[in-house]
Amino acid sequence: MQPRRVTRQVKVGKVAVGGDAPVSVQSMTITKTADVDATLAQIYALAGAGADIVRCTCNEEAAAEGLAQIVPRSPVPIIADIHFQYRLALAAMEAGVQGLRLNPGNIRKPDQIKAVAREAKDRGLPIRIGVNAGSLDPDIAERHGGATPEALVASAVRELDYFREVDFEDVKISVKASNVPVMIDAYRLLADTVDHPLHLGVTEAGPPPAGLVKSTAGIGTLLAEGIGDTIRYSLTADPVEEARAGRTLLEALGLRERRGLDLIACPSCGRAEIDVIGVAKQAQQALEDRRLPIQVAVMGCVVNGPGEARGADLGIAAGRGKGHLFVRGTVVRVVPEAEMVDALVEEAERIVEEGIEARLAAADAAAEAIAAADRDELVELRGVDVNHTQDRIERIRDLTD
Ligand code: SF4
Repeated sequence: MQPRRVTRQVKVGKVAVGGDAPVSVQSMTITKTADVDATLAQIYALAGAGADIVRCTCNEEAAAEGLAQIVPRSPVPIIADIHFQYRLALAAMEAGVQGLRLNPGNIRKPDQIKAVAREAKDRGLPIRIGVNAGSLDPDIAERHGGATPEALVASAVRELDYFREVDFEDVKISVKASNVPVMIDAYRLLADTVDHPLHLGVTEAGPPPAGLVKSTAGIGTLLAEGIGDTIRYSLTADPVEEARAGRTLLEALGLRERRGLDLIACPSCGRAEIDVIGVAKQAQQALEDRRLPIQVAVMGCVVNGPGEARGADLGIAAGRGKGHLFVRGTVVRVVPEAEMVDALVEEAERIVEEGIEARLAAADAAAEAIAAADRDELVELRGVDVNHTQDRIERIRDLTD
């Protein structure tokens, strides 16, 4: 392994990328971003599988409005993927995303690029210049005789120059190609050209196993050379496979520690009924030594918690002074709040001994009804718009009209 290349650092929400930060894993949702519940459930599944950052497409106004609801409830920072319409980049920032990805191949007007960079600078948000061999700016492709490594890097540098004109340097860069040798050479050249953190990926790698092999060949080679600060496997598969593969590669190369317990916690938004971080810490301590091979979620409220973390084997959600214990999204038991961590540990052990199906079959018949009543009461008490997203949505509508 070569020493890691020295890069400047950017922050995607709470996740640092570049500098001395650990190499991070990214993945992308394949739900419609406007479908808030489905997208959040996928984000939770990705976080549980090892994704540090998740990207969502922002391809229409409804997607930007969805992001306004998703971001405050996501356990990991969200990046909006922008193609063609610079106004959607502005709308995504209004929605509260922690970063943007712009494709220089399809947003080409310098004024629009600079307008986005200025806004990102004002908001302290990073942007990834995401060059893609398949959608390279035609004039650059023509000049270089196709999507060569030099052409990919030229596209990135041209975009970076626009950003620099407005004094914006909070930038990560990717130069992805589906051809692995081209991708490797492009990143090597880019690493010699700029000091920005690099996001590695082999684009359109296809379904596993070929997609996994191609991605690992490209990303693994560069990481071993010390190049790369954040990675994404682009597989034609459930994105959970991407997150798992990314995580596994980093662990195999010794760039990330092996994960112990798979514990995810919600970020705790305006709906939270408990100190999520405190309870997550208690759960972590109680469960860590037991080395149970399950995924556990600690969620701040019963209104959305069981649904958002329905991919987790087991979870606890708070509400009305109670802990709602759920298995794969179904509430199986309701206990006083003070007993929720103990009940979580006990249920975790029983799941390992008896299996998920048996624990679902043993669910307290009244639990779902109690949870539903608590949910209704909470919504009644606090209203629907606990995160004040309506104001953001109004501003997004003004921007995209
Ligand atoms: S408090 Fe509830 S709605 Fe808010 S992020 Fe946590 S589980 Fe989701």
